[in-house]
Amino acid sequence: MIRFENVSVRYEGAGAPALQDVDLTVPEGELVLLVGPSGVGKSTLLGTVSGLVPHFTGGVLSGRVSVDGRDTRTHKPRELADVVGTVGQDPLSHFVTDTVEDELAYGMESLGVAPDVMRRRVEETLDLLGLADLRDRPIATLSGGQQQRVAIGSVLTPHPRVLVLDEPTSALDPAAAEEVLAVLQRLVHDLGTTVLMAEHRLERVVQYADQVLLLPGPGLAPVLGEPAEVMAL
Ligand code: ADP
Ligand code: ADP
Repeated sequence: MIRFENVSVRYEGAGAPALQDVDLTVPEGELVLLVGPSGVGKSTLLGTVSGLVPHFTGGVLSGRVSVDGRDTRTHKPRELADVVGTVGQDPLSHFVTDTVEDELAYGMESLGVAPDVMRRRVEETLDLLGLADLRDRPIATLSGGQQQRVAIGSVLTPHPRVLVLDEPTSALDPAAAEEVLAVLQRLVHDLGTTVLMAEHRLERVVQYADQVLLLPGPGLAPVLGEPAEVMAL
């Protein structure tokens, strides 16, 4: 579960706050889409969950964001890896190792996970994401959809309860995007993971969402509702 309590974020030098008075609960085990025009604060909101805001982007955060009770303001992203996994638009910028298997193991090394648990979790994640046949492949030789699945897999191995994705399909063609969305939907249904995903192309992803969170613009409260309601607007 993700709780936002009176969350505002202001960047130095900017006039209006990037986020203002967000008060919201994202329930467990749902795929929630975060929708709104460019510049409305989607990445900023995701950053408050992953810990990028305020630790790495310079935004000043007031209020409280918690994931499974853990305050993201007092934890850096690395210290949140076992509760929040974060994936961006460009999978290539995410990778630190050469092969698929090494990349899946990497995220657990810094968490001090025991080697036998680590091996088991890598196997489990390869199966879950349909990557078993690609385990020894250099990541650079994979398709965009396969690379994005590896990026997702690499943050899944610590078993986070929440997955945060910033436009994960924007660099992908429609078939590859569907491949990634199907994987996300499976994580929600099979593991009960909460997925919070920003997307500006609502029509592509709305069928996969349990709820849509509309960010209507500075100073207006975000609205959390069922996709059907949003489609009727
Ligand atoms: P979105 O993801 O919806 O496009 P962002 O969260 O990236 O929106 O941006 C919200 C607002 O905050 C924009 O006005 C943007 O210019 C500003 N902003 C985002 N990141 C920074 C930053 N690191 N420094 C200064 N301003 C920023
Ligand atoms: P551990 O690895 O902690 O020894 P398990 O592998 O048995 O324990 O997994 C514990 C729980 O986590 C199980 O309910 C399992 O379904 C769930 N789980 C498995 N893989 C993942 C994953 N990638 N992300 C989140 N939860 C997962």
